[in-house]
Amino acid sequence: MTRIFIWLVSLFPFLIFAQTISPATDEETLKEIYTTALVKNQGYKWLEELTEMGPRLTGSENATKAVYHFQKIADSLGFKTFLQPVTVPQWVRGEAEEANYKTTEGKIVLNPCALGGSIATPKNGLTAPLFEITSFEQLDTVTTELEGKIAFYNIPMNPAFINTFFAYSSSAKQRYVGALEASKKGAVGVVIRSLSATINDFPHTGSMTYKGADVKIPAMAISTLDAEQLSTNLNADPSLEFFMKMNCEGKDSVTSYNLVAEIKGSEKPEEVIVLGGHIDSWDLGTGAHDDGAGCVHSLEAIWLLKQMDLLPKRTVRVVFFMNEEFGLNGAKVYAKESKKENINHVIAIESDAGGFSPRGISVVAPDSLVARVREFRSLFEPYGLHQFTETGSGADISQLYSKDLVMLGLRPDNHRYFDIHHSAADVIESVSPRELETGSATLAAFIYLLDKYDVVAK
Ligand SMILES: [Zn+2]
Repeated sequence: MTRIFIWLVSLFPFLIFAQTISPATDEETLKEIYTTALVKNQGYKWLEELTEMGPRLTGSENATKAVYHFQKIADSLGFKTFLQPVTVPQWVRGEAEEANYKTTEGKIVLNPCALGGSIATPKNGLTAPLFEITSFEQLDTVTTELEGKIAFYNIPMNPAFINTFFAYSSSAKQRYVGALEASKKGAVGVVIRSLSATINDFPHTGSMTYKGADVKIPAMAISTLDAEQLSTNLNADPSLEFFMKMNCEGKDSVTSYNLVAEIKGSEKPEEVIVLGGHIDSWDLGTGAHDDGAGCVHSLEAIWLLKQMDLLPKRTVRVVFFMNEEFGLNGAKVYAKESKKENINHVIAIESDAGGFSPRGISVVAPDSLVARVREFRSLFEPYGLHQFTETGSGADISQLYSKDLVMLGLRPDNHRYFDIHHSAADVIESVSPRELETGSATLAAFIYLLDKYDVVAK
């Protein structure tokens, strides 16, 4: 009998050790996290529910409804939830915008959209000649050329950037301060080329400011395709007159909410890991990528860890921030309340770069901790993640910045992000379930590793 036992053990050593030693290595744990995400598709199901509710423009009933909906879901999953009141601006688009101009070949009708925060045109619209601006430097040289005209900003996103976010931020000025700057030179209206990385027929909206303007002038975006055509026609006929009509308006601020969903840590409940995205969206699509994806990534990451009995020893907080798009009001409230309550955030993670395949992570942390995050790189290679950069984290969590905080931003593939960003194309059909799910699994895996190996400031 003894001999048979020894023989058995030598062949199948795990028979006696299986009970006492946990065989799970980090590789195996990550494999299980990614597998569960891909098999269960829980995040994609939540994204479907969210987008079926419609657009979630800040200040709209829909945006707040989405918060209530996900509070119920988080409650049912065993989170302790609460809502933080946030005062948010309210701006409504009104009737469909109009824009057109005449050429020798006939009338060209465009498909424009008002920029978020813009005032309306006069009731019957506005007609004026155009002045094309192809770089910000050019604007500095303008003296009287814009007087009584519509400024046509036609500054493309620079295709030379591999990371389209850099191209976006280097040309976003035309949208954000285009009207402000043109009004100083006597312009009566603004048309901008959509901030989109490709030539497509969607107008892309986004926020703008009048801060510091003596005169407010209306501003709209046209598609990159329309902008190219308009530029050509304007070159052929510099006197062409452009018609624009919008009846959007800003209304009184309203109260909406951040959703905070918490699970207390088992060993270090006073240390908090916060992760989130923003629940508000633009109104042309349904904010599937921006930032429905980030919200479901965050909730699903904790759901995955809970499913596998891998919840961190620290407290985790999932936050759906309200109003990233019109001024980060929710993030500011969350940071202020956290300070008041002495919440000790040690790790903050944000997903607000879309639901495409995760390619890596960007880290903001003390150097020694950045180096420790980089040590995880080989664990993520099987999942296509290889970019470990130090290029910021996220707009909402940036409000929590302190030099000791470990801040991470998910970095999905971004080649196609600005094709759909802030446009009617940002809908569930543009999200791949598999790509979305690997994003959730990535956040879960990072939380698991950072917590397990105590990658936090001492
Ligand atoms: Zn966003």
